[in-house]
Amino acid sequence: MRAIQLAGARQLELRELAEPPAPGPGEVLVEVLAVGICGSDLHMYETGEIGGLKSEEPFTLGHEFSARIVTTTEGAVDGTGRDLEPGQRVAVDPHVACGHCEQCREGNPNLCPHHYFFGVAPTHGALCERMVVPAANCFLLPDSMSNAGGALLEPMGVALHSVNYSRLRPGDTVAVVGCGSIGILITRLALLGGAARVLAFDRLPWRVELARKWGAEAHTVKGDEAVGIVGDLTRSRGVDVAVEAASADESVGQCVDMARYGGRVSLVGISAANTFSMNPAVARRKGLTLRLIRRMKHTYPRCIRLASGQQPKVPLDELVTHVYPLERAAEAIDAAFEYREGLIKAVVALSRDRD
Ligand SMILES: [Zn+2]
Ligand SMILES: [Zn+2]
Repeated sequence: MRAIQLAGARQLELRELAEPPAPGPGEVLVEVLAVGICGSDLHMYETGEIGGLKSEEPFTLGHEFSARIVTTTEGAVDGTGRDLEPGQRVAVDPHVACGHCEQCREGNPNLCPHHYFFGVAPTHGALCERMVVPAANCFLLPDSMSNAGGALLEPMGVALHSVNYSRLRPGDTVAVVGCGSIGILITRLALLGGAARVLAFDRLPWRVELARKWGAEAHTVKGDEAVGIVGDLTRSRGVDVAVEAASADESVGQCVDMARYGGRVSLVGISAANTFSMNPAVARRKGLTLRLIRRMKHTYPRCIRLASGQQPKVPLDELVTHVYPLERAAEAIDAAFEYREGLIKAVVALSRDRD
């Protein structure tokens, strides 16, 4: 089967690999349908590593994906306990926790130190034709969801988890710094969760436009202009919740500066330089609560409910601006890496039947 592998920094290759092995107990063999390209893929593409994790061998990228069941095994049930059958479409949660450790037992599988994650070295990801995944990581997709929409349930889960962990209350004012797909999803979910206002900022005007269409008071900004705009719009009070989703180290400091006294700051983005800076005196004086968001937990069923139906509350397909076949996956990654004009989300579609 074909796969797109990262052989080193900025070295993507289309390779012919052996077929995956037969699925073991509790596993299913799936045919990949669509894969979203994510900021973390771009970090790995640029440097060959993420957060210090690095692969010595060429490895397959891709962790946001939908798939079709090819073969199931005895007793294979999805993440909500439903039987899985060949031909069904599913979204796959790429995070596989051990299920037995202290964190898993306390209900925080996203913090499991013994986990593996499809598409983060050394575990191969989804930019390939077929793979074996745990049945419990699969979630059945309703007919109203596209393959690409199914892939985007992963970043949507991160956005939902961020909103959960920000302890958003109805009536709060929220600022979101960075309107990549996760930032835009956070603005939408914050509004659905009862935020009175969501102020959203990005340097790329097409992202700002979509954030605005989805209900945010969105602004195109340079440098630290967002801090002044928040001051003006809140009469210097600041926001209840500031969410950093820009993956830039200076935006953490901006979030600290725009939060109100007693406010909350959530860090979602992964900085390429693996550092961030903020003014600790400001954070301390304000008595801020800082939360670092680690992936997600228990989000797929809620995300599916919000993103499906004739008029979904979260229309995931609107994020998908660029679609490429597997053999052109390198172009998808390049387009995302260059912040190509108009690009919100690049998706690699492996199946022609429905994108
Ligand atoms: Zn991602
Ligand atoms: Zn565990």
